[in-house]
Amino acid sequence: KVAVLFLDLDRFKLVNDTLGHSFGDLLLKEVAHRLSGAIPVNGIVSRQGGDEFMIILLDVKNRNEVIRAVAKINKAFAKPILIEDHELFIKNSIGISMFPEDGDTAEQLIKNADTAMYHSKEVAGGSYHFYDEKIGKRTIQNVKYENALYRALERDEFTLYYQPQIDYCNNRLFGVEALIRWNHPEEGLVPPDIFIPLAEQTGLIVPIGEWVLREAVFQLEKWHDLGFTDLIMAVNLSAAQFEQGNLHRSVKQVLAETGIRPDHLHLELTENQIMRNTDLAISTMNKLKELGVQLDIDDFGTGYSSLSYLQRFPISTLKIDRTFIRDILHDEDDRALTDTIITMAKNMGLEVIAEGVETVEQADHLVSRNCTLMQGYYFSPPIPARKLESDFLT
Ligand code: C2E
Ligand code: CA
Ligand code: CA
Repeated sequence: KVAVLFLDLDRFKLVNDTLGHSFGDLLLKEVAHRLSGAIPVNGIVSRQGGDEFMIILLDVKNRNEVIRAVAKINKAFAKPILIEDHELFIKNSIGISMFPEDGDTAEQLIKNADTAMYHSKEVAGGSYHFYDEKIGKRTIQNVKYENALYRALERDEFTLYYQPQIDYCNNRLFGVEALIRWNHPEEGLVPPDIFIPLAEQTGLIVPIGEWVLREAVFQLEKWHDLGFTDLIMAVNLSAAQFEQGNLHRSVKQVLAETGIRPDHLHLELTENQIMRNTDLAISTMNKLKELGVQLDIDDFGTGYSSLSYLQRFPISTLKIDRTFIRDILHDEDDRALTDTIITMAKNMGLEVIAEGVETVEQADHLVSRNCTLMQGYYFSPPIPARKLESDFLT
């Protein structure tokens, strides 16, 4: 048997960028030196460019022998590398393919080792993985989705569904939340939980989010024109979109194009998006607030902030996460927490919307606790614009 190992230094690019190229070169030299010292006599090391190395082990008996070699390599990097007065702990992500089971050409073996290496990087820095079909399939699936996502925007494959937001006391529709769907040509309707994380990774979420914002506000204009002039529209913002410099310009522009009153547009953010970089978040939120749009905290209660902390931010509404509503009738803790959120929010002058209301009992309980704004399957799932019109706007 032959084993092909692909090795990639974690964080090398960061080190190189922050400490300089000459530093990076010294580091790579030391890495190469330690590698040659660590591999067994039946091994060959070569640099693959950048911070990637390939190690070929000839005449290996079995996987255990490869694992022992990996252990030896890792041991060689247990001590930090000293360059000038910097101490660097190096971790490697390693991917392994075996001849003959993972391919019979050099090209195939290298490609599969590379795939396994990327898997190691994704799972946890500083680990190793043998190539197997599952890893291969997952990567291929991701690449397929990525390519398809690129084209989805151009081909107009995204669509928005709208979920009603209801004022339970007078049984009135006061708003809708826009929720994106991807109409995949082969796979049908793909839910956002599948492709939003992918779009975040590739940066595609920014143009997609831009599309959502424009589509939703133009739709709202149509509904206002039909006579439902109080209706509000809630739009979800992704982290990347929120942290991108010109969000407020896009918002300003679409409001100008449609003439929608700014306070009819609600932008939803999660606590975690705000906590990632609070200074940036405050400045972005202030810019949006200056335009007059409303900012809502989505999935409230699941993140790492507290209500008193949120007081520093210019928000108008809290959306209580649906996991609290789910057990509100039976779980004492969830009920107590929801009570506290509602009371504190009201004291701070915030609106509260309960998400994920599925039964009349949950709705009645919430009303008894002074929370009358709700959203959930009990009223309606997210539905296409046409259906919203026929069911709610007549
Ligand atoms: P979210 O913002 O918390 O949206 C609410 C999700 O809860 C929706 O799932 C909705 O279908 C679901 N839901 C509504 N009522 C109920 C209920 O009574 N019970 C239960 N179990 N679920 C209910 P959906 O549409 O699949 O969206 C999932 C997530 O994807 C959203 O969570 C949001 O984080 C993200 N997302 C959706 N559209 C967009 C978008 O345009 N941009 C961005 N950045 N994210 C989006
Ligand atoms: Ca939301
Ligand atoms: Ca939510």
